[in-house]
Amino acid sequence: MGLFDKIKRAFIGEEQIEQTEVTEKYEKGLEKTRKSFSQRMNELFANFRTVDEDFFEDLEEILIGADVGYEATMEISDALRQEVKFKNAKSEGEVQQAIIEKMVEIYEKDNTEKPTIHLNNDGLTVILVVGVNGVGKTTTIGKMAHLYQKENKKVVLAAGDTFRAGAIEQLVVWGERVGADVVTGKAGGDPAAVVFDAIRQAKQQGADVLLVDTAGRLQNKVNLMNELEKMKRIIEKEVPGGPQEVLLVLDATTGQNAMVQAKQFKQTTNVTGLVLTKLDGTAKGGIVLAIRKELDIPVKYVGLGESVDDLQEFDPNEYIYGLFSELIQKSL
Ligand code: GDP
Ligand code: MG
Repeated sequence: MGLFDKIKRAFIGEEQIEQTEVTEKYEKGLEKTRKSFSQRMNELFANFRTVDEDFFEDLEEILIGADVGYEATMEISDALRQEVKFKNAKSEGEVQQAIIEKMVEIYEKDNTEKPTIHLNNDGLTVILVVGVNGVGKTTTIGKMAHLYQKENKKVVLAAGDTFRAGAIEQLVVWGERVGADVVTGKAGGDPAAVVFDAIRQAKQQGADVLLVDTAGRLQNKVNLMNELEKMKRIIEKEVPGGPQEVLLVLDATTGQNAMVQAKQFKQTTNVTGLVLTKLDGTAKGGIVLAIRKELDIPVKYVGLGESVDDLQEFDPNEYIYGLFSELIQKSL
């Protein structure tokens, strides 16, 4: 069954969407986006008379405003034009439903599987976490460590952001908070050496997962990329199949800028997944759809708040539900 059908059936009571803790986290984390999006859609439909060019222009403006992105917006808008033409969808409810359906379709196109993290089942898993300053790398690592420890995995952290002394200290604090060992080096030292030490220690302790924090000086792009490459080479040499994941962290509140960062990192590093942080702090959570449309990298985690259990594995069902619940309800 398709994603939209499933959500629709849930609303008419034919399928039970359990209000789990996860559903609540998504609903709360996406509240700003949902409220703003629902409000603007309601305004659009308040004066609804017919679907004409003005209507499409207003709709495109709303979607662009929610950071759905140009490509995805045009796809939705064009698909809706076809729908109106062929299926003769004219009533307010039909048109609303068609809009949501098109947005869901952007997600459904390839698959609706929950993207999983690649773990090394018989040995150490190394996850390299990259991204520019302030996007939430260190915080995400702390939250990830907490998630894995809850699954009874032993986690070690590597303080690979040696550029600022504060960054090392910040990771140490997270390590204490979640109960994970942190391997550190000197401030200003070679991050690749920290990674080397961390791998050795993680292996000695029989750890399951090593999470590697990195620096994110974009103003010095070439150096940064070289530094990341060096860390990656060490991991490749010391751990078979490693790094199992290279996660690029993006700050959802920076909108299209996040997209630019993703494209830059993708050019030089083999990014295997994205973490979209601070979705709770923006009304532009549509960025997930833009990313889906324009980049061929799966979103693996979303940050829905600042506390330790506010990182969730990305689940398209929960995301769509959290984004449109009020609208879907209304259009039925
Ligand atoms: P780094 O420079 O990439 O390591 O970024 P930090 O981990 O230091 O995070 C920068 C700021 O973003 C901190 O104040 C974090 O608390 C905040 N932050 C990170 N993730 C989230 C999130 O999902 N939601 C919110 N509201 N804040 C976040
Ligand atoms: Mg940091």
